[in-house]
Amino acid sequence: MNNELHDQPLHDDDFSLSDAEAFSLRESEVEAEGGAVKISYLVCEPLEEAGFLNAFSTRFGGVSRLPSEALNLTNFKGDRPDNVAENRRRFLKVIGAEALPLITARQTHSSERCVIESAQQAALSTPDCDAMTTRTKNILLAIQTADCLPVLIADPQTGAMAAIHAGWRGTAGRITERTVADLMRQGVNPRSCLAALGPTACAACYEVGDEVITRYKKEFGYWKKLLVNFQAGGKAHLDIRAANVQQLAFCGFDEEQIFVAPYCTMHQNEMFFSYRKEAGGEPLKVGRLLSVIGKTRREQLPREV
Ligand SMILES: [Zn+2]
Repeated sequence: MNNELHDQPLHDDDFSLSDAEAFSLRESEVEAEGGAVKISYLVCEPLEEAGFLNAFSTRFGGVSRLPSEALNLTNFKGDRPDNVAENRRRFLKVIGAEALPLITARQTHSSERCVIESAQQAALSTPDCDAMTTRTKNILLAIQTADCLPVLIADPQTGAMAAIHAGWRGTAGRITERTVADLMRQGVNPRSCLAALGPTACAACYEVGDEVITRYKKEFGYWKKLLVNFQAGGKAHLDIRAANVQQLAFCGFDEEQIFVAPYCTMHQNEMFFSYRKEAGGEPLKVGRLLSVIGKTRREQLPREV
């Protein structure tokens, strides 16, 4: 990979789809052993104003050695479960969601989706899927990423919501289109929804090879909008944001319903975990970000016993 490219400053062209004003970067302190710790996170304000708690995590303020003080929010072999539990406690506390059950999936870069009927159902067995939908209040759907695109969808009309893990494989399998179709089966009209696309590897950074290029050319009639910057040697760059915006548009979303975070996990590796920049052949060295969405009613929050 070309590291010079990654270290260049951001240009407006890299984020032609972005909605900087729709996202706020917030910082809060949380009590921890040894003193208060600052945690930063992104919120998509239009979703919040529509009554949906949402947040995209950043990398610092945790206890994981990935490489240090890392806020790794996913259980995997590269980190200890007690580290992840403490990191999750801190993150959920600062976003005001400490009382909500966190629903994660066993993500496999598929286009499989699950409907989450209740926290109890999800607690019994972690669902195997890369997108979840629900109309259940007072739970938090969570997607784990490090370069892949997290997509959160909220429907203020019905209270339904979705959280999607869209890497290149899931996107090629049209996971965002399929998830919106799931929502429609639950009574949702896409025209009333809002979608937030979180931090991901941007088109300037996301280099892909023959396998991806061939698959996208075969799958999408509009592949020229998604594959850019073709280079000698058969490489190109994938615009994963544009690909998922296209899928939302295909489902009936207007531009005003889609908000794209102006952050790249690779350009801004100091803020976010990036598998492509950090793994270097050792995947267990890279932490994972969490993107969460939930609908709460204060009076319905579970009471502490
Ligand atoms: Zn980038």
